[in-house]
Amino acid sequence: MRIQAAVLRERGAAFKIENVELAEPGPGEVLVEIAGTGFCHTDLLPRTDGFMAEPPLILGHEGAGVVASIGTGVTGLAVGSKVVLSFDHCGACPACIDGHPAYCRSFWRRNMVGRSHIAEDRAHDITGRSIGARWFGQSSFATHALAEARTVVPVPDDVPLEILGPLACGVLTGAGSVFRVLRVTGAASTAIYGAGTVGLSAVMAAASTGAEYVIAVDRHRSRLDLALELGATHVVDSTGLSVAEIANVVKAISKNGTDTALDTTGAPSVVAAAVAALRPQGTVGLVSALAGTIELPGDALATGKTVTGILEGDAVPHELIPELIDLWRQGRLPFDRLIRTYPMSDINQAEADMASGDTIKAVLIPGATT
Ligand SMILES: [Zn+2]
Ligand SMILES: [Zn+2]
Repeated sequence: MRIQAAVLRERGAAFKIENVELAEPGPGEVLVEIAGTGFCHTDLLPRTDGFMAEPPLILGHEGAGVVASIGTGVTGLAVGSKVVLSFDHCGACPACIDGHPAYCRSFWRRNMVGRSHIAEDRAHDITGRSIGARWFGQSSFATHALAEARTVVPVPDDVPLEILGPLACGVLTGAGSVFRVLRVTGAASTAIYGAGTVGLSAVMAAASTGAEYVIAVDRHRSRLDLALELGATHVVDSTGLSVAEIANVVKAISKNGTDTALDTTGAPSVVAAAVAALRPQGTVGLVSALAGTIELPGDALATGKTVTGILEGDAVPHELIPELIDLWRQGRLPFDRLIRTYPMSDINQAEADMASGDTIKAVLIPGATT
């Protein structure tokens, strides 16, 4: 079928809206008419030379929409079902069976290559040239996306479908890290480093548990102000502060250091500060690919501290996304406050606004006009 998509033709090029021919859903697949798609920083990885996904590509991995047609063997979904599209996973490897689909043994091949792990090409431009259309199992910067039914999460009718996509990655990552990995509770103290989509989602999730100290650390005053509105108990402006100074401020606020911390910045010096500001036996989660090497003093972890990487909040999307919607309904996870919507045709403006920090989370609406 003929669809429209924002295509990345070359790593450094602007996105271009094009007509694309997309295959009909095969066995186990669904075709989703996209209502809105979040723009995640991960969507920019293919701009890096040598990255495993090669243009031409359709990116986008926070899609939400309505099932338009279904392939053979699909159960539990029907034409008209409202869904959020989450990351791809096999459902059969030890990690998937154990309830950790983000650590699926074929996660990278299924999500980061941008092309179907089934050999056949599923999308072509009007000249017949193949276009990668399986980024994170979906490629949802488009009017329609093909996805395996297993990766699609049904959502209720009474929620604003077009803004639900970020629940599948950015919000999932922040909230999942807090709930599933750091296991923040009412008596706890946690520090969240970086107040973008993931960090602010972590702040909201931690605040929803009633944690005693929820400390947001960032260099942008406007984001710290928003963190306070979203439930942070304290904020730290780290502008101009050394690693030791950041750690000392966070320790002073939390009395003896935080039980847990989440780094969403990917900055090695921030991770070093987060480790230094932990109490004994505390854990720091890292959700971002680090830009460089973490340097820690030889005894930095001696008191039983843990540093752990986290993908996709280590969440099971079919479990956590409905829980996040419930929290949103209760006003305890107002993730809509992070979002600014753009017509999909303004995708390059959305990218620029996210890079400048003007927009925290862009959501692209196919078919909308400015
Ligand atoms: Zn798997
Ligand atoms: Zn993402």
